[in-house]
Amino acid sequence: MLLTNATVLAMDSELRQFNPGYLATEGELVSAIGPMSDCPPVSGFDEVLDCSGCVVLPGMVNAHTHMPMVYFRGLADDLPLLTWLNEHIWPAEGKHLSPDFCYHATRLACLESIRGGVTCVNDMYLFAASVASAVADSGMRGLVSEGVIQFPTPSAPTWQDGKKLSEALIAEFSGHPLIEPAVACHAPYTCTPEILTTMHGLSREHGLLFHIHLHETNAEQGITEWLQPGESPTAGLARLGVLGPRTLGAHCVWVEQPDMELMASHGCGACHCPASNLKLASGVAPTVAMLKAGVNVGLGTDGAASNNNLDMWEELHLSSLLPKGILLDAEAMPAQQAVQLATSGGAAALGDRRFGTLAAGKLADICVIDLATPHTTPRYTHASAVYSYLAYSAQAADVRHTIANGRLLMREREVLSLNEAAVLREATDWLAGTAG
Ligand SMILES: [Zn+2]
Repeated sequence: MLLTNATVLAMDSELRQFNPGYLATEGELVSAIGPMSDCPPVSGFDEVLDCSGCVVLPGMVNAHTHMPMVYFRGLADDLPLLTWLNEHIWPAEGKHLSPDFCYHATRLACLESIRGGVTCVNDMYLFAASVASAVADSGMRGLVSEGVIQFPTPSAPTWQDGKKLSEALIAEFSGHPLIEPAVACHAPYTCTPEILTTMHGLSREHGLLFHIHLHETNAEQGITEWLQPGESPTAGLARLGVLGPRTLGAHCVWVEQPDMELMASHGCGACHCPASNLKLASGVAPTVAMLKAGVNVGLGTDGAASNNNLDMWEELHLSSLLPKGILLDAEAMPAQQAVQLATSGGAAALGDRRFGTLAAGKLADICVIDLATPHTTPRYTHASAVYSYLAYSAQAADVRHTIANGRLLMREREVLSLNEAAVLREATDWLAGTAG
């Protein structure tokens, strides 16, 4: 595939950009990027996309989500996290969840994600094998995990059953070109030390990501019964030995300086989910301080029931604006750094640098966004301007092509890898069948 006449953003450490530039792919990999003056002849390619007026950048990495929760979008809103979970979400999950539910709901989440230029998701949910199958069938890349918790769930009567599901997921998807199995514990306050160390051991045994909600609310320390007096959840995890280079803490809203230093010294990642944290009134994560401490920070939507969408462009806008307003510092999170969080930062937080940047030999996970729109016009061309359009002006609906693993999942805003009408009908029919 050859993409021509675009502004090509590598999102590498030098923030290389080519304007006008080209990008070529071969199989699942990027084979070259560079200025149009070096563009190879179009005759050597099966597919040539003229991307005039567009920006070519790495596909968005949604570093923390629960894809099947799209079917609970609009179920219960304007509630704090623990009330929302205990009184609405967990009962609804108990009533509705099945492998079939998770497969079909994930298809809707993939459709929304592909439309918004997301090429990789890091998902934690139940019946994870069904989530993984739906992600793979949509052509997206996914790190997928079964969320293990100390209470009975619709997929696992005991946490040991959750571990068995995790092991089965690992056996089924190891070596899959799109799916990387991962291991997840729901949160410090919903898992015993035995569960945390056992599941982290499983992730380490296979070299997989260990995914956990961490410091989401101010209440977490008080309700985590196994912590020592005065110990923070991160310090507790460090004491148990479950912090490591492939540990990803979702949210990290209430981390303090010693927590950040622990996370950085262990090479952990953090996923910032600004919309969900705002909606559930959890707070705003200290991303600037985390980055300064050396934590790998990515961006995520969390589940659509607490967001209420899977739009990474909104997360990008919020992640660039919130630190400015909170720190009263307009330079706190420059546009290009926010775009990094959504792409290369997510890959670093997930501990997988095969994607998230564009260069020869990287996986061809690519978003092409059209900036020839009223809200992104006129186009200034100084080096930082393109990041400003992406961070402050662009919208998910501006995404024109989405490519994952070298395959076009959406061309000219038409999703090719899913039957859009069928996916929407499935969701509507499901809700009608449950009598709302
Ligand atoms: Zn979450």
